[in-house]
This record gives sequence, structure tokens and C-alpha cells, in this order.
Amino acid sequence: MQTIPFFKHATLREIIITRLCCAANIVVIVGCAGYLIGYYDAAGLRWPWLIAALLLGYFLADLFSGLVHWVVDTWLDEAMLGRGIAITREHHSHPSHVLLYDFLDQASLGAAPSAVVFGIAAVVTAQFPVSPLTYALMVIWFVIATCMLFGMSFHNLAHWPVRPPLLRIAQRLHLVCSPEHHWRHHRDHTVRYCVINGWANYPCDRLRLWSRLERLVAATTGRAPRADEATWERKLGDAGVVAGVPQRAA
Ligand SMILES: [Zn+2]
Ligand SMILES: [Zn+2]
Repeated sequence: MQTIPFFKHATLREIIITRLCCAANIVVIVGCAGYLIGYYDAAGLRWPWLIAALLLGYFLADLFSGLVHWVVDTWLDEAMLGRGIAITREHHSHPSHVLLYDFLDQASLGAAPSAVVFGIAAVVTAQFPVSPLTYALMVIWFVIATCMLFGMSFHNLAHWPVRPPLLRIAQRLHLVCSPEHHWRHHRDHTVRYCVINGWANYPCDRLRLWSRLERLVAATTGRAPRADEATWERKLGDAGVVAGVPQRAA
């Protein structure tokens, strides 16, 4: 079984880019947190709505993680995203290797799109007079941006070979994505894209959202989904899929 990740080496340029992506998303998280602390009294959002906003944010974070994962798996290739794509393709053929990369190598994949989308969302929200609605929206942006920084970390919990009892309880309660839930993506790369808690996989897969979007994108652009997948599987070898089956903790 291969235990050395294939793309561990990063150039200085790649290291700087991954750090900048993560730093940009941290700026968004801190900006949202500053707003939430500063305007807590002025906004007057009652706690049942605060909990609803937190839960909605946690669901939307899962959905956004699925969207990013779908785009990366289906439409991006090495020419567009370089080492980031290589690491994600390696994860499909050699799942356990993902645990051997550094946090920053993986966090940037979720942090970059999050910083752009929720950075803009937070700035636009802050332009409006403070109200319970703007406060609830900022809670949602804060939760999504935070979860996206740790998106791969959430995902990686499903690949831990030995899981502490508290994690297993959280996974069984679907508070975070479980190995059983996530592993279907490794058998079929067209489903179960959402990796934070898996909540959004139920509506997305039931509605066949991703395959419908694929047909739409293919029809409008003429591009084929997952065009480089066979090449990567050949390049990385196909033995890793069996070798990487997560061990089920007793
Ligand atoms: Zn994938
Ligand atoms: Zn995985």
C-alpha cells in the first residue's frame, strides 16, 4: 500500500497562493465576526432565529462544499488549477493519502471560492442598515466561510482510520459527514459531493441536481464532464481504490 502522497512537493509560488487564499477567507471570517460582535445588541435578533440562521448556514455550507467539489471534480483540470487538481484526483484513486497533506494545501481549495463569494456577500450585507435580517445573513456568511476554511478537514474526518468515540457519535448523528455516507462518492464520483455534514446530499442526489447541471453545462459549452478522469486513473494506477478503503473502527 502506497503511503507517500504523490504531490507533497509545492513550489514557492504554490505555497504563497495557498496562503493568500486562506488568509483572504480568514479576513472574511474575522470581518463577519466583528460585525456579529459589534451589532449584537443593535440588531436584536431573537435566539430562535439565531439558531435557525446557524443551522441554515451549516446546511448551506454543506451545499457550497458540494458545489465546489462538483466543479473541481467535473470541470477543472490540471492546466487550470495545477497541484490542487492533482491532489483531488489522487484522493479518488488513493483516498488515504489525503490525510498526509498539510492543512494549507487542502484548505485553499474551499477557502478561495469562499473568500470571493462570501466576502462580496458580507460587504453587500454590511451596506444595509443593521436589522435582524442583516444580522441573520451575516451569521450565515460567517458559518459558511468558517466551514469552507475547514471543508477538507470535515471531509478528512470521514477518512480517519481510527475515530475517537465523540467523533463517531457526531458522525452517527450526522453532525459531521460519516465514512459510510461519504464513501459512496468514492464508489460513484457523480453523487455525494457535499462533505461538511452531508445534509445537502439528500436533496441534491434525490433531485439529481449535479447530473442535471452537468447536462446543462455540457449542452451550453460543449465540454464533457470529468474529461480527464480516465487519464488520471491510468496515471495514478487503479490499485489504490481497494487499498484505500477506510477501515471501520470497531
Ligand atoms: Zn470527489
Ligand atoms: Zn473522500
